[in-house]
Amino acid sequence: MIPVTKPFLPPREEYEALLDNVWQRNWLTNNGPLVQQLEDELEDYLDVPHLNYVSNGTIALQIAIKVLGLKGEIITTPFSYVATTSSIVWEGCTPVFVDIDPETLNINPDLIEEAITGETTGILATHVFGNPCDIEAIQDIADRHDLKIIYDAAHCFGTKYKGKSVYSYGDISTASFHATKLFHTVEGGAVITKDPEISHKVQRMRNFGHAGYEEFEGVGINGKNSEFHAAMGLCNLQYIEDILVKRKTQWLFYQDLFEDVEIKSITLNPEAVFNYSYYPVIFENEDITLDIKESLEEAGISPRRYFYPSLSDLEYVNGKLMEISKDISQRILCLPLYHDLTEVQQKIISSTIKKTFQVV
Ligand SMILES: *Cc1c(COP(=O)(O)O)cnc(C)c1O
Repeated sequence: MIPVTKPFLPPREEYEALLDNVWQRNWLTNNGPLVQQLEDELEDYLDVPHLNYVSNGTIALQIAIKVLGLKGEIITTPFSYVATTSSIVWEGCTPVFVDIDPETLNINPDLIEEAITGETTGILATHVFGNPCDIEAIQDIADRHDLKIIYDAAHCFGTKYKGKSVYSYGDISTASFHATKLFHTVEGGAVITKDPEISHKVQRMRNFGHAGYEEFEGVGINGKNSEFHAAMGLCNLQYIEDILVKRKTQWLFYQDLFEDVEIKSITLNPEAVFNYSYYPVIFENEDITLDIKESLEEAGISPRRYFYPSLSDLEYVNGKLMEISKDISQRILCLPLYHDLTEVQQKIISSTIKKTFQVV
């Protein structure tokens, strides 16, 4: 069985060594020393000023919307994981979809301005598959219309844009450290910002609004994370360079394997150092895509339809047709990519796909 992704696990002794300290301190959660250490190490590694570790990437998005005070309409992409849209709705705002660029699969900045109304307060865009959006164009629009920018950077661990971590852009970038992501802490996420005041508010918000045992500053939620999760992150961070190098090698190997067939992937942002976190392939139409998915599954390989359906088709949103997002979502698959996927397995995957092509 070859899954689409497989969580990296560090040597068990290394995790257990950190847990020994947890047992000694008997401090399990509530901003413990391992959580603080993970935040420091991540700020260092990513070279970002303020990174607040939270329970998951979805609560990171919800806190981001709340802390920036977004109300009314938020312009967003229909091509992302469902959490991007559901967070907007959960926070009582209305997602207004803008279609994607068919080459990068990121929100198309040329279509943003016509979607802005008097109710618009922000833009929530995803750097899809870790490939940065057109950051300058989006910033320029936001500046001209006085809008806040949140980047759902759940796929972006290790991605750089113009020499800096892509998490440094926008008013806030959010990360997910879920087990299926390139860097993970089992469950986890982060709210990243340049603004110390926003960062301070996020720290209050993720902890019920506590400003002391008996004092509260604003409404909060429980978005904290635990020592056990932080320990996993600290162990995994030791291996991140290896993981990144491996991903790149595997990604380029897929590219070689598919050189002789008509399979499209995404166009990478030329200003970015990409993290090679996903290997999406786009086929000619939905029938071929489903045939290929089926033959891969018969061979014990699990690709995933990331992202299907187009979020503009969710039943709780205004269902305006997003043609490109809908079209791409029907004919895209993400192929297996994880730290110990072998070349032999990649060859099996590519030959299964090529064989199906010849049959249909
Ligand atoms: C994984 C993911 C999320 C949600 O992160 P969790 O940590 O699972 O809550 C949000 N947005 C995108 C684009 C994701 O891929």
